[in-house]
Amino acid sequence: MSKQIVIIGGGIIGLTSAWYCTQRGHQVTVIDRNPKTRDGCSFGNAGMIVPSHFVPLAAPGMIKLGLKWMWNPESPFYIRPRASWDLLTWLWRFRNACNASHVKRSAPVLRDLHLASRACFQELSSELEDGFSLTPNGLLMLCRSDQALDEEAETAQLANSLNVEACVLDAKATAEKDPSIEMNVAGSVYYPRDCHLSPYKLMNALQSELSVRGCQFLWETDCTRFHLQGRQAVAVETSQGPIDADEFIICGGVWSSQLGQQLQLKLPMQAGKGYSITLDQPCQQPSICSILTEARVAVTPMDSSLRFGGTMEISGLDQSISQSRVRGIISSITDYFPKFKPADFEKCEPWAGLRPCSPDGLPYIGRSGTWENVIVSTGHAMMGISLAPITGRCVAEIADGEQPNVTNFELLSPDRFST
Ligand SMILES: Cc1cc2nc3c(=O)[nH]c(=O)nc-3n(C[C@H](O)[C@H](O)[C@H](O)COP(=O)(O)OP(=O)(O)OC[C@H]3O[C@@H](n4cnc5c(N)ncnc54)[C@H](O)[C@@H]3O)c2cc1C
Repeated sequence: MSKQIVIIGGGIIGLTSAWYCTQRGHQVTVIDRNPKTRDGCSFGNAGMIVPSHFVPLAAPGMIKLGLKWMWNPESPFYIRPRASWDLLTWLWRFRNACNASHVKRSAPVLRDLHLASRACFQELSSELEDGFSLTPNGLLMLCRSDQALDEEAETAQLANSLNVEACVLDAKATAEKDPSIEMNVAGSVYYPRDCHLSPYKLMNALQSELSVRGCQFLWETDCTRFHLQGRQAVAVETSQGPIDADEFIICGGVWSSQLGQQLQLKLPMQAGKGYSITLDQPCQQPSICSILTEARVAVTPMDSSLRFGGTMEISGLDQSISQSRVRGIISSITDYFPKFKPADFEKCEPWAGLRPCSPDGLPYIGRSGTWENVIVSTGHAMMGISLAPITGRCVAEIADGEQPNVTNFELLSPDRFST
């Protein structure tokens, strides 16, 4: 039966949810407070599809690393100390999740989702007539030091045990893998199933094809609260007036927890600010995307341009750009890729985006037990592009009363922090 579905949020998670709901014959309206031409987190990111990222952000060693990096203004990870109850409780939950058993439970779930999403991207790529430069060339985790390479080799071993193919390469084999760029590294781990794409193209291709298929978009429209009746939401109040629907899907990125509060849902979330810089005419263009492991910088060729993305700054909803952290990204690039010089970046305009980060590093996907017709789909942190199509597909299944069979969804429940 065709339903009226309202999706709050026109980022990548909102658009892929709209895609699969529309495909199932539902009447979908996507509402976003931003204009049609916008520049949020789903646009300026590094565009990687990463089965290699099966370890959640909340993992052993992260607290120690965070404390070490806190004092360096150019470091890739920073928590701005501030008197905020939300931040304190988030940090407490993050600390509790940074353990080996959480990683052991979460890794197969993230692996299943990434691999299923990769398959969805291949389908989407043919449906959208390759409108987003999907490139299945794999990913290199580049390591400058032997110590980092040893640590990455351990993760590679774990990856192989989870059937995510990974191989450890020395400096010579790394250079042979991608001869188009000179690298100053001790070695790398190569993940052949990772891919990359152009997020701007993906967003634009999805948005225009969704319009063709009858999806409605309400731009510059702010959703403020819900009208409730018993265990159902009957309408969402917006800056343009109330909008009724049979089903409401919350895909509001880092702002989702504010919307959740209206429904007494506890969706702890912090914004993980990240920056990207894009060179239109790089002096060398790799054919494989990579991560500069020690610097935590992602490097993605996007057609003829080259994007570098990095930093995880937990500093509230502020989107201002810290020039010292951008400098940190640039200086790490020149360490790994000796042909690049700081002067290459002088004319680049840095971009900032807010990743929606849950404290346990897992997204919130599913129906809340409290409301019969509200689905939550957010909290994808550094994996929102990678997990977007499978998230959208599962959301559409849930909207139709089906149980997605991709993986164990219990760990992703939007009610998991409600007690
Ligand atoms: C530097 C950087 C690099 C990254 N690289 C990668 C990568 O390589 N691979 C990967 O998988 N991920 C990557 N990410 C993460 C990815 O970009 C995010 O996970 C993803 O974009 C989140 O999408 P979203 O739809 O949940 O949120 P958003 O894109 O933030 O969209 C949410 C939308 O909801 C709207 N909204 C919210 N509340 C309301 C309301 N009340 N009323 C109306 N509208 C509302 C907002 O206006 C917004 O447009 C990166 C992120 C950064 C910052």
